[in-house]
Amino acid sequence: MLMYNLILKKRDGGELTKEEIDFFIDGVTAGAIPDYQIAAFLMAVYLMGMNSRETTDLTLAMAGSGDMADLSSIPGVKLDKHSTGGVGDKTTLMATPIVAAAGIPIAKMTGKGMGHACGTVDKLDAIPGMRTSLDKDEFVRIVKDIGISIIGQTDNFVPADKYIYALRDVTATVSSIPLIASSVMSKKIASGADRIFLDVKTGGGAYIKEYTDSLELAKIMVDIGRLANRKTAAIISNMDVPLGTHVGNALETIEAISVLKNEAGKDLTDFALFVASRMMNLAGLGDMAACEGIAEEKLRSGEALSKLRRLITAQGGDSAVIDDYSLMPKANTVAEIKAERTGYIRHMDTLRVGMAGFTLGTGRESKDAPIDYSAGIILRKKPGDYAAKGDILAEFYTNKDDEALSAAREEFIGAVEIGDEPPPEQKLVYAYVDETGITEY
Ligand code: URA
Repeated sequence: MLMYNLILKKRDGGELTKEEIDFFIDGVTAGAIPDYQIAAFLMAVYLMGMNSRETTDLTLAMAGSGDMADLSSIPGVKLDKHSTGGVGDKTTLMATPIVAAAGIPIAKMTGKGMGHACGTVDKLDAIPGMRTSLDKDEFVRIVKDIGISIIGQTDNFVPADKYIYALRDVTATVSSIPLIASSVMSKKIASGADRIFLDVKTGGGAYIKEYTDSLELAKIMVDIGRLANRKTAAIISNMDVPLGTHVGNALETIEAISVLKNEAGKDLTDFALFVASRMMNLAGLGDMAACEGIAEEKLRSGEALSKLRRLITAQGGDSAVIDDYSLMPKANTVAEIKAERTGYIRHMDTLRVGMAGFTLGTGRESKDAPIDYSAGIILRKKPGDYAAKGDILAEFYTNKDDEALSAAREEFIGAVEIGDEPPPEQKLVYAYVDETGITEY
């Protein structure tokens, strides 16, 4: 088989066989296919798509490209969770400690940032000493010992996704339903959890922007979960507005910690509790009302915060960051961005907010480029807020030069629409999807 022929077939809209997909993933894993051919193939998939059979074959091939965790020695239903990514999306760091504190083991494999959105691996790696590249034995041991572990892909754990993910980040091939579905679900299958909870983001700051496409992505992933014998459910949630106020790796980790300390804004805390209760419900802990009560209790009592502290310590991190945020990476420059007119914040173009963060240093410009954990944005005003001319809209954190700072400023100012009337209220969650169908809220 020749890689050239696979690229040609997909470029011209052909359907790939299982053998061809296996050939591609085996070649990526063995390092036998050059980056330019992998990138060309990814672009062909991006442009021509894949049907559900091809997407499932790609997912299973990627999941099997390395070790698979065996969690059967851990009693009870094990749960994994994944978000398709968005601006300010620190949901995993807020919700999983709440669920683990309720006694449901969390075994989560996650990823780095891609494009305008920061990834959970980078947010955890922002904590001094934290290790997210564990082998499967250590991963399983930590889940067994403390009830939660969160790791990234490694050269042994879903290596095909690790490689493809990094190339997608720098070749404009992220926003593809089959590539997202296979990337997410390969990690979920390899992490070994019995049940999988997905948060599919939709809107301007998501990789998939249209609601109907996000629904299709959710349905494909729920179906792959069913085929792999893992009960899977998804919410479709709003990414037309940044989640919370902090955007950037260290900043998002700090905001997630503040949720677990009961010190964050109500909207963000409510979202963390909603996701945590939906996860508990999927794990069979009770009906939604009961799970909401448990989630609230685990958060308010500080048990969820203790769980995060134990997770950080177990993976080598300095859990003192929880009590002292100054131990997190800090940017040299802090700049205030002020409102240029008086009025209500009617809209924030969330992709542009993410791109402003990227310009400040939150993401990678090339595959192996280092990342600036300290870079990012704290939003002081959000859609619905009133700002007088000269009020601070945001604080920028960066180690980049003045040119980058003014480019980020221009991007951000262009993203914020200020008008005389307050904007209509937005829903945070649009729908719930599981094997039985779709419930719209
Ligand atoms: N998260 C992933 O793991 N992969 C994607 O492609 C997008 C979000």
